Amino acid sequence: MLRACVIGWPVEHSRSPVIHRYWLAEHGIDGAYEKEAVRPEDLAGFLESLWRRGYVGANVTLPHKEAALAAARSADEAAITIGAANTLWLDPDGALHASNTDAYGFMTNLDAQAPQWIEGLGGALVLGAGGAARAILYGLIAADVPKIYLANRTRARAESLARRFGPKVEAIDWDARGVALAGCSLLINTTSLGMTGQDPLVIDLAALPADAVVADLVYNPLETALLADARARGLGTVDGLGMLLHQAVPGFERWFGVRPAVTPELRAHVVATLGAP
Ligand code: NAP
Repeated sequence: MLRACVIGWPVEHSRSPVIHRYWLAEHGIDGAYEKEAVRPEDLAGFLESLWRRGYVGANVTLPHKEAALAAARSADEAAITIGAANTLWLDPDGALHASNTDAYGFMTNLDAQAPQWIEGLGGALVLGAGGAARAILYGLIAADVPKIYLANRTRARAESLARRFGPKVEAIDWDARGVALAGCSLLINTTSLGMTGQDPLVIDLAALPADAVVADLVYNPLETALLADARARGLGTVDGLGMLLHQAVPGFERWFGVRPAVTPELRAHVVATLGAP
């Protein structure tokens, strides 16, 4: 039996088992996908013993994404540039390989939910400068987005990412986020604002052009106040759940040998679990 897991601390909230177990059943694969709660100080030892524990690979969630990259023998370009890994696998001689599929997941979902985003693309405004923002910047730059404004509550973190990702990325003040929208056709929230239990994201969308697209990485609630506002204004919207589903595809294919599909049925299955532990 092929086995994979998601490693986090805490890990109970992870939706990855719901996604991967759905695909295992759908494809009739003799496999399993577990949750592994691993303390930060135990991560290196856990990854060294991955094979002995019967795993062919793993997803990695907070707070282990950077440490997992450091522990891997090799990593793909996305993981290296983003500076974090979310997908691991063992090759036949037991070496650990790291990948980051968050940018792939976001861009694939953007294409699926709002394919018009690329037409007449002006600038993009990215809110947030944490781990998720790094993946989004990597994806947008790979897609040749010409200009990316980056606003973060802690401006120094936005400036640090602007230096890291090059001249297309310009850090701006958090308070300038509404004004900056005038030059943008894509807005992406990568902060945790708007998530159930967090403060709301306050931003005036009035300056966005009528054909703009608004994406939110938050998926609980599925329709955030930001997306509801954008929808009411007739703008295109992209929710965070689609990214979560698509980022899981490459790992499943790597571990279980079948490339799974993101379908409306899978989405409904995962939506039914949101809010449940
Ligand atoms: P992170 O590294 O902790 O970054 C959090 C970001 O949110 C930082 O930019 C932080 O700003 C900002 N922030 C937090 N509280 C704020 C506040 N009160 N006001 C203004 N800004 C605030 O987290 P992350 O890993 O990047 O994740 C960010 C969000 O993306 C989470 O909601 C996560 O669930 C979601 N996410 C979704 C997916 C998906 O597949 N849909 C994938 C990855 C992440 P400071 O720098 O100023 O602290």
